[in-house]
Amino acid sequence: MSKLALFGGAPIRQKPFARWPVFDDTERRAVLDVLESGVWGGYSPTVSQFEQAFAARHGARFGVSAANGTVTLEAALLAAGIQPGDEVIVPPITFIATATAVLRVGAVPVFVDIESAAYNMEPRRVSEAITPATRAIIPVHFGGHAADMDAILEIARQHNLVVIEDAAHAHGASWKNRPVGSLGDLGSFSFQQSKNMTAGEGGILITNDEDLAAKARAVTNQGRRQGGAWYEHPTLGTNYRLTGWQAAVLLAQLARLPEQMKIRSHNAALLSNALARTGILVPPAMDSRVTAHGLYLYMLRLNTSALPGISAEHFVKALTAEGIPGASMYPHPIYVNKVFESFPHKRLACPEAERFCRECFWVSHEILLAEENDLPDFVRAVEKIGDSVSALASIG
Ligand SMILES: *Cc1c(COP(=O)(O)O)cnc(C)c1O
Repeated sequence: MSKLALFGGAPIRQKPFARWPVFDDTERRAVLDVLESGVWGGYSPTVSQFEQAFAARHGARFGVSAANGTVTLEAALLAAGIQPGDEVIVPPITFIATATAVLRVGAVPVFVDIESAAYNMEPRRVSEAITPATRAIIPVHFGGHAADMDAILEIARQHNLVVIEDAAHAHGASWKNRPVGSLGDLGSFSFQQSKNMTAGEGGILITNDEDLAAKARAVTNQGRRQGGAWYEHPTLGTNYRLTGWQAAVLLAQLARLPEQMKIRSHNAALLSNALARTGILVPPAMDSRVTAHGLYLYMLRLNTSALPGISAEHFVKALTAEGIPGASMYPHPIYVNKVFESFPHKRLACPEAERFCRECFWVSHEILLAEENDLPDFVRAVEKIGDSVSALASIG
């Protein structure tokens, strides 16, 4: 039995995996074209070209780009008319922005538990959380696996609620062959450095509702209206515009997405087969209604009976030491963050979310872009850790 790298043993792997982000002369040329055009800001024609291309790829008529995937959520809530004091149902297993965007517009995030297969918002818990103050639901397609949109849209229809999909993990993903982001009233995407399409920063809202698109545009563009004069500002907005540079890079990244999705899904299938055989980790679920998985996070659950005394945090530390990059986990559901002490919010019981933080971790999508013959190192590292459970458990 070889010594874990965490305790000074030789790591399984010393070579890096695939590099992220992926770029080449296409991105270089695109940025230079914007440079030469002299129109660098949010009014660059490249911005509207990207908005249209991204929206069309995701089954939506309108795209409104923005500085990042946090302000897109704020803009979506404002466009949908969410008022201070309104309740907005969110999952506790997500990035903080899903809930802080709700706080930023003065509304009240209501945390409901996740389900245990794909770690998305559990629709039954959503139903239980509805009160006369509920106005909206923000499902997150966690890791790129679509939330149960059939159930969520049905609940929204019954209670007349707005559905804002947080699709920051789910570029190109689909639910029953319909692209996520276009199933609810508005869909929000992020192009932050780590996301499956990136320009370093950036975001976009997509929608099929012309009125919501116009309102979201007004929020992100200083309260201007389409066709209005430059110094005419009928509504309250701010400047959340994406730049021409980012749009140029994102057009190139969008073109890469289909091929990258194929590679990720091929490698995920290989890895899931191999990891299932180890008996140490439970590979990610795939609901049969998910017709394309975004695979932003490759989710893993510890098989706790094979790993007594080991937490997800232990496993991530050990895996990272073995030279496997991109492993991470949430130390706690987001409602534990101190920020919520200062703002009204609600929380239903979330035992699955708490269990998630003890038992689940992920590796980020770059590893799925690795060469096929790199993947066995991942599996060997997992097996090595599985062979040293008692040593690892001792770190407490
Ligand atoms: C990344 C992310 C966001 C925010 O995106 P930024 O572009 O970083 O502001 C929102 N929601 C989720 C689930 C995310 O992962």
